[in-house]
Amino acid sequence: MFEKVLIANRGEIALRIQRACRELGIRTVVVHSEADTEAKYVRLADESVCIGPPPSRESYLNIPAIISAAEVTDAEAIHPGYGFLSENADFAERVERSGFVFIGPKPESIRIMGDKVSAKHAMKSAGVPVVPGSEGALSEDPKEIVRIARQIGYPVIIKAAGGGGGRGMRVVHTEAALINAVTMTRSEAAAAFNNASVYLEKFLENPRHVEIQILADGQGNVVHLGERDCSMQRRHQKVVEEGPAPGIARKLIDRIGSRCVDAARKIGYRSAGTFEFLFENDEFHFIEMNTRVQVEHPVTELITGIDIVQQQILIAAGHKLGFRQKDIVFRGHAIECRINAEDPFKFTPSPGRITHWHPPGGPGVRVDSHAYSNYLVPPHYDSMIAKVIAFGDSREQALARMRIALSEMAVEGINTNLALHRELLVDARFLQGGTSIHYLEHKLADRQHA
Ligand code: ADP
Repeated sequence: MFEKVLIANRGEIALRIQRACRELGIRTVVVHSEADTEAKYVRLADESVCIGPPPSRESYLNIPAIISAAEVTDAEAIHPGYGFLSENADFAERVERSGFVFIGPKPESIRIMGDKVSAKHAMKSAGVPVVPGSEGALSEDPKEIVRIARQIGYPVIIKAAGGGGGRGMRVVHTEAALINAVTMTRSEAAAAFNNASVYLEKFLENPRHVEIQILADGQGNVVHLGERDCSMQRRHQKVVEEGPAPGIARKLIDRIGSRCVDAARKIGYRSAGTFEFLFENDEFHFIEMNTRVQVEHPVTELITGIDIVQQQILIAAGHKLGFRQKDIVFRGHAIECRINAEDPFKFTPSPGRITHWHPPGGPGVRVDSHAYSNYLVPPHYDSMIAKVIAFGDSREQALARMRIALSEMAVEGINTNLALHRELLVDARFLQGGTSIHYLEHKLADRQHA
């Protein structure tokens, strides 16, 4: 096992990785920007290295600074968390070439999956069902684009091959709007992702977002850990996640799960990964694969009892998976609410000092957060300050525990979206389960007009 791991991330996930290391008896080094010097996980780490000023570009995305931090502290492996450099194949390569272990997949897997066009192609050839759409990237020829869109049928969605984080997508309902929209998406994609390549997909009108978590040891052993339903989204960003997905037959999950396992084996995948699908009319359509730990991983940890972050570390250290598919037992139900520092109505970011922090507790309640009373939420990064995860024997019990948790939780000094979560947890359609990816946006639009 490693003696020392460097954590190349911040916020709740830096703390989460640190806890996993501690339990495995591994010492931790955390890198941080000048804005995070006071952070709890920086104080708690065995060692810390300041790698630059607040802007991510100069710190959390600064590859040479991170590699030299690993060198000066004698770390053996680097965990990238999520976001930042976690899906940067060049970073993974630099880490390995510098003699460190990258806690994640092989750089070539990240590269294939990081381009949505090549990811879709790889999945299709591995037998995973994909959303109907263009064969690969679109050419420059407007006639050809019009022809492909007609063939798919409107509405279509234009997606940037290099897109991520809900950006680089545009829905088109009519042929008249198509070419202009392609041109706009292309130039935005070139600026944002340094990759002007775009493709077309059928825009599914009422799908749910259901994803499959897998673990692969890179030595031929692959398992899936079931699904998470992440349909509650705003601007393509997840707000609430849960597992199992309400109302989806176990045999459908098992079937798509084993397709994912086969595909992961076929591409020689290693580490934790997530296959994201849109689910409509009892069918799964692959949209993308995330080659890292996800924000919503605790949902799966609670219903399987498997520590996904520890598994990533064990796999990176060369261990074989200690269980097979038949050993994985799904128990109960888990729900996660992402608590963001933002206005609960206008959704404008609300950084600043948290004057009072009262996290919830009690049976079946887990809080993953780096926040505390007097913590200053910096304005430079993602607005998520906590994840509240509730577990119950049934969905009803998990919902009830989440309602209690949200009612106990109090954050003062900044705005948070707690009010939105409290509303959702008494929303009749959400309580029924199985709402589509558009549900929250529609609800928010109604709320605005009320
Ligand atoms: P990102 O990498 O930016 O997260 P994804 O491809 O995972 O992009 O898509 C994010 C979200 O966008 C999905 O969860 C879904 O809400 C919406 N979306 C993507 N593709 C489609 C599609 N073909 N039809 C309808 N909605 C889509």
